[in-house]
Amino acid sequence: MTATDSSILNQYLVGKEPFYQPQHDEVALFEAAYRKRLPVMVKGPTGCGKSRFVEFMAWRLGKPLVTVACNEDMTAADLVGRWLLDKDGTRWQDGPLTVAARYGAICYLDEIVEARQDTTVVIHPLTDHRRTLPLDKKGELIRAHPDFQLVISYNPGYQSLMKDLKQSTKQRFTGFEFDYPNAELEAGILVQETGVAPSIAAQLVTVAATARRLKGHGLDEGISTRLLVYAAMLMDDGVAPRAACRMALVQPITDDADIRATLEHAIDMTFA
Ligand code: ADP
Repeated sequence: MTATDSSILNQYLVGKEPFYQPQHDEVALFEAAYRKRLPVMVKGPTGCGKSRFVEFMAWRLGKPLVTVACNEDMTAADLVGRWLLDKDGTRWQDGPLTVAARYGAICYLDEIVEARQDTTVVIHPLTDHRRTLPLDKKGELIRAHPDFQLVISYNPGYQSLMKDLKQSTKQRFTGFEFDYPNAELEAGILVQETGVAPSIAAQLVTVAATARRLKGHGLDEGISTRLLVYAAMLMDDGVAPRAACRMALVQPITDDADIRATLEHAIDMTFA
């Protein structure tokens, strides 16, 4: 490996300790999985701390983190790489998965379920004893660097018959089930993340509890911790609590007039 090669991963190092509030024993369990280089799946609703957890673990383990936000237009080439044409002819460019496997990073495929199944299968040989990645178009077989680990996230709430991971993919991972933190932890997160007063943080968490009870009764998902952080940030900037809550907690999650009325009522009661 040349100096240039090894320095590719520097940009992916997590420089500063990310704030992460553990919910259970996930930190120790992830460390055990990393020691054995087991692939990890992090499941849970959007905005509940999955990505922050992975970022924190990469920092804690001192490993670079290559993150890929998956989408349905993503092809296998977007993950593994492709030949590019430039003035000197053709040149191979590694994709993010290849960079991680070749040089030894944690590769985090966020919302893997969004990717098409023919894209998802490229990760298979990296997830078992082979720890290899065939670059068919280049005619190269990569043996994953000893530091490489694969982590995926997905939101089981979005699961449908068309969009679910195949068992043959799922059963290559160890799993963590995430949910919104309990009220006390969530309020603490808001205080840490935004500097908002503990009493306001507790009120925001109360509003979230109302919305989360509406899941399956008009709402597909409850209010995420991420949105609570947004509301607290707006308040920290001087926006009045009710306006901040409408903007961050109601507008993004529903267009249904009845549900809006219910949420706005909960906000008015909480911030009376
Ligand atoms: P997702 O589950 O969609 O990956 P994120 O990890 O991006 O969600 O979390 C969204 C935001 O919520 C974070 O940016 C952070 O502000 C906050 N957050 C959620 N859970 C935690 C936690 N346990 N510790 C610290 N911050 C958290």
